[in-house]
Amino acid sequence: MNERMVWLDLIKTIIFDLDDTLCDSTPSITEHYNLVKKDLTSSGLDNKYLMLLDEIFKVDSFEDAIKQVIEQLRHDKKDSLISNVLTAAELYNIKDDNFEIALLPGAQEMLEKLNRAGKQLFLVTIGDQMLQERKIKKLGIGHYFKAYYISNPIGGGSTKEKLFNDILKGYKLNPDYCDIMVVGDKLKDELKYGHELGLLTVQMLHGKYKDAKADFEPHYKISSLLELLELLKIK
Ligand SMILES: [Mg+2]
Repeated sequence: MNERMVWLDLIKTIIFDLDDTLCDSTPSITEHYNLVKKDLTSSGLDNKYLMLLDEIFKVDSFEDAIKQVIEQLRHDKKDSLISNVLTAAELYNIKDDNFEIALLPGAQEMLEKLNRAGKQLFLVTIGDQMLQERKIKKLGIGHYFKAYYISNPIGGGSTKEKLFNDILKGYKLNPDYCDIMVVGDKLKDELKYGHELGLLTVQMLHGKYKDAKADFEPHYKISSLLELLELLKIK
């Protein structure tokens, strides 16, 4: 039996990402990104910034794209335009329950079985507080988690790295025990921090980051959430 297989037997805690890991977020994300862009275009924002927004959004999150456009405006001494960008960015945050979001196939069954097997689950997600809460409620998955953490970097909120450290500290978890796993779709975010903290990393191959590259390899790649149950030998 190799070292990794032993590691899988030890897993007690699993930290999940939400968007494009447990639910399919791409359709609503794209729709709302287009609303923001339309608003910024009609506000007369220079094409240079719109192109920058597109360029970053292609490979990174909406929050990262907005943050970098704001940084560029600051650098170009166009601070007066920042409030326009922040106002437009609000359009990304759906203000009512009138949006489509669905769990990825197998998510419910997987969460149910992980709970039944006594695994301690956490959810860590980046985005607008109200929006992410609304998603969790609409998906009906909040009760599966010991705790969930939401942070919005646009408002200067914590990164996932900080949130992971908060969880480890708050729940007295020690990566040296090799019993913590991180499951997410983004190599440059939750999987990178999980890797740096010495946690077992599992990449869910879904959404726009599935072909992205990083300078490390996650321990496992799955294309269905039910594969996670197989890895953990949970029936
Ligand atoms: Mg994600």
